[in-house]
Amino acid sequence: MTKSPSGRSTKVRHRAWFESLHDPSERYGLDEVVYTSRDGGLLQVVHDLDELRKTSAAKWRRLFEERAHKNDWPYGSGVWGKKEWVCPEIDHANVVSMYEGHSNLFWAERYGRQLGLDELWIKQCGNSHTGSFKDLGMTVLVSMVKEMRARGQDIPAVACASTGDTSAALSAYAAAAGIPAIVFLPRGKISVAPLIQPVANGAIVFALDTDFDGCMEIVKQVAERDGVYLANSMNSLRIEGQKTVGIEIVQQLDWEVPDWIVIPGGNLGNVSALAKGLDMMLELGLVSRKPRIVCAQAEAANPLYLSFLRDFRVFEPIAARPTLASAIQIGNPVSIEKAIDAIRRYDGIVEQASEPEIAEACAHADRTGLFNCPHTGVALAATAKLVRRGVIRAQDRVVVISTAHGLKFVDFKVKYHSMTLEGIPSEQPNPPIELPARYETVRDEMRRQIELRALAASDEPRRSPRP
Ligand SMILES: *Cc1c(COP(=O)(O)O)cnc(C)c1O
Repeated sequence: MTKSPSGRSTKVRHRAWFESLHDPSERYGLDEVVYTSRDGGLLQVVHDLDELRKTSAAKWRRLFEERAHKNDWPYGSGVWGKKEWVCPEIDHANVVSMYEGHSNLFWAERYGRQLGLDELWIKQCGNSHTGSFKDLGMTVLVSMVKEMRARGQDIPAVACASTGDTSAALSAYAAAAGIPAIVFLPRGKISVAPLIQPVANGAIVFALDTDFDGCMEIVKQVAERDGVYLANSMNSLRIEGQKTVGIEIVQQLDWEVPDWIVIPGGNLGNVSALAKGLDMMLELGLVSRKPRIVCAQAEAANPLYLSFLRDFRVFEPIAARPTLASAIQIGNPVSIEKAIDAIRRYDGIVEQASEPEIAEACAHADRTGLFNCPHTGVALAATAKLVRRGVIRAQDRVVVISTAHGLKFVDFKVKYHSMTLEGIPSEQPNPPIELPARYETVRDEMRRQIELRALAASDEPRRSPRP
C-alpha cells in the first residue's frame, strides 16, 4: 500500500473515468466536477477492463458471493460489494452506505400463474433504505462528494430538483455523511409523502413559484455559479450504482440469465444502467448469454415507445401528461441516447400502459401479496400485455424490476379502493366493510365474504411446478 500526495492510501489497481459518449479521447477523473461532454452530451463512466480481466470470472463470482450480507466495510452493501466494477478508487473511509442493494428477488408464483407464466420473479428494489432503487445510485454519488471534500475540494453542498425519489435518496445519504443537501421543488405541486422525507432528513427544501423545469433551471445555476454539486440523473456516477441491479438479479438466480427483464422507464437512466451492468458481466465472462430487456412506459409519457414504433429512426420529445406513475412523467428523457443503445443491444422491446391498465395491474398484483408503486404497475401491465400477445411465452423466465415501495404511493391505492380515481373505474376495489358492532351481523357478512373469495379462487389457474 502506498500513500498518494493527498495522503490517501492507494492500494487500488482498478481504474475508472468519465468519458464522452462520442469521443473516447475526452476523459475526466471521477473526482472532477463535470456533468456533460464538450459536445453537450452525457458522459459515461468507463472501467479499465484489461485490469478487471486479470481476475477470472469464477473468482469475481466467488468474491461477490462471499461479500454479500457480511459486515466487512463497505462490501456488505450490494453496490459496494462490487466496488471494483462500480467506483474502484474511492477510499473506504469516504463511502457513504446504508447497505443498500441485495433487495429480495422472489418467485411471484400465484401472480405469475394468473398471468400465464411459470416463472415470474419480482426484484423488490423498493425494499430499500428510502424505499426506491434511487438509493443504489445515490450511495455512489454522495460517496464521491465526501471523497472530494476530504481531498480539500470546495463543495459546499449537493443539490437536486426532484419531486420524489431522487430528493429522498439524496437527503438521506447526505444526512448520513453530514453534507448539506438542497432540494428544489415546485411550490404547491408536491403532495405530503414526497416532501416529508427531505424535510425529515434535514435537507434545505426550497419550494419555488415555478414548475419542475423552472426548478431544474435554478439548480443548474447554483451548480454552475456556486460550486454546489449536481445530483440529477445527468450525473453518470449514479448509473454506476444502479447498474448493480442486473448483476444482482443474475447472481440471485445462481448466475443463470433470465429470458426477460422488464423495467419501467422515465428519464431512462435506469434501463441504461441495467444494460451497463449486464455488459460488464458479458465482457468479463461471468455470463455468456443476454436476456431481452423490456422498457415499460406510461402511455401519458411515452416518447421512447413512440420512437420504438419507428425503429428508433426518429426521436421526438413530447409534452408528458399527468400519470399515476408520477416519477416517470417525463417527455424529454436525459438518457435517451444510452437507452436506445441498450434496447437495441438487448433485443429489447418498449411497451406502454394506459392509466386504467396501470391501476388494475397494481390492484391485481396486490391481491397476490405484492404492494408495489404505480411505476412497477407500468412494468406489470406491460408484462401482462406481452404474455397475452405471445411475445413472452409461458415457460420463459421473467424478472420484473419493482422500482419503489407501494408505501411511498399510498394516496393512489387509497383512491383506487375508495373508487375516487378520476377516469378509472376500479375493477377490484376492496374498501373496508362498515357494520354495527353486532355479532350476528358480522358473522353473516363474514361468511358471505369468505364464500365470495373461495368462489374467485376456484377460477384460478392450477399450481405450476416449482422452478
Ligand atoms: C426514477 C424512477 C423511475 C424511472 O427511472 P428512470 O431512470 O428515470 O427511467 C421509475 N420508478 C421509480 C419509482 C422512480 O423513482
